[in-house]
Amino acid sequence: MAYKAEYIWVDGTAPTAKLRSKTRIMEDDKTDLPIWGFDGSSTNQAPGDKSDCVLQPVFQCPDPIRGGQNILVMCEVLYIDMRPHETNTRRRCAEAAEKFAAQEMWFGIEQEYTFFKEGRPYGFPFGGFPAPQGGYYCGVGADEVYGRDVVEAHLDACLAAGLHISGINAEVMPGQWEFQVGPVAAPQVADELWIARWLLYRIGEDFEVSATLDPKPVKGDWNGAGAHTNFSTKAMREGYDAIIAAAESLAPRVVEHVALYGHGIEDRLTGQHETAPFSEYSYGVSDRGASVRIPWQVEVDQKGYLEDRRPNANCDPYDVTYIIIDTVCTALA
Ligand code: ADP
Ligand code: MN
Ligand code: MN
Ligand code: MN
Repeated sequence: MAYKAEYIWVDGTAPTAKLRSKTRIMEDDKTDLPIWGFDGSSTNQAPGDKSDCVLQPVFQCPDPIRGGQNILVMCEVLYIDMRPHETNTRRRCAEAAEKFAAQEMWFGIEQEYTFFKEGRPYGFPFGGFPAPQGGYYCGVGADEVYGRDVVEAHLDACLAAGLHISGINAEVMPGQWEFQVGPVAAPQVADELWIARWLLYRIGEDFEVSATLDPKPVKGDWNGAGAHTNFSTKAMREGYDAIIAAAESLAPRVVEHVALYGHGIEDRLTGQHETAPFSEYSYGVSDRGASVRIPWQVEVDQKGYLEDRRPNANCDPYDVTYIIIDTVCTALA
């Protein structure tokens, strides 16, 4: 029987790319996913007189919204001569992962986001502010938690799609939530994160709430939204020397890393609200005010992983995992 393949890709919107998708009907149980095309002049990826761009399927999973045989398909964008498009950040991520495959780097990404309804964060009263932060993080109760029905539907959808979602929690600001994907190797962890983001937006349609990855959705004394990126190589999972060497390796490349960690990072990494200043680098055990945290259990076990707390919620996980692999795997090689 014919089935539906939802081709999903990352567009060329600046400064932060958006997701796009369209449906292709696959005939009679055919399983070879063909390359496809789209109008790049409508996605900031091509001029109008040379508008065709190519979609190359790279990752697929069951479509939990449509069910049945239907699938979601993550794609790379190519030029018509099959070179990677300039907006295609996945390619160099995949190449770095391939180059350092022997180190077996894994990633677990904590995606924070904020629901909006009727132009304000879900749970914010009309024309004002809710009670200050304090009771919302991992909270329970109708006076503190907003959007749990959407969050549960999204979690179920991610599981049904077979994504490596590893948890959810309510965050520090009302209407703010988090889900985690991983641990999985790159670029798959990023493919799965982009698909999980797509599912979040898509499910939001049914509940008439939108989700935003804005790193600082409310100015002032409200937490921003990040995408803490946890990572480990085989050596880090086996010993503490590699943990320290990896933490040290990030120090000289602060500027390059932060440049790939999401637009507007200066506004979020201020040194307040559980962040370190964007231009400085620090690491420490259990330290939520450091750039990189060594989880306490990792110190106890003398092995495990590190948490880079700097990436913004709106980061491109292909870029983030690319540069962490490049820096850390080069240092540990
Ligand atoms: P936090 O305490 O910072 O809120 P979370 O529980 O939200 O931490 O997220 C921790 C993340 O770390 C999860 O995504 C998990 O998959 C990931 N993780 C756990 N172990 C490893 C590891 N060895 N390598 C990489 N990521 C890991
Ligand atoms: Mn978390
Ligand atoms: Mn969090
Ligand atoms: Mn974290």
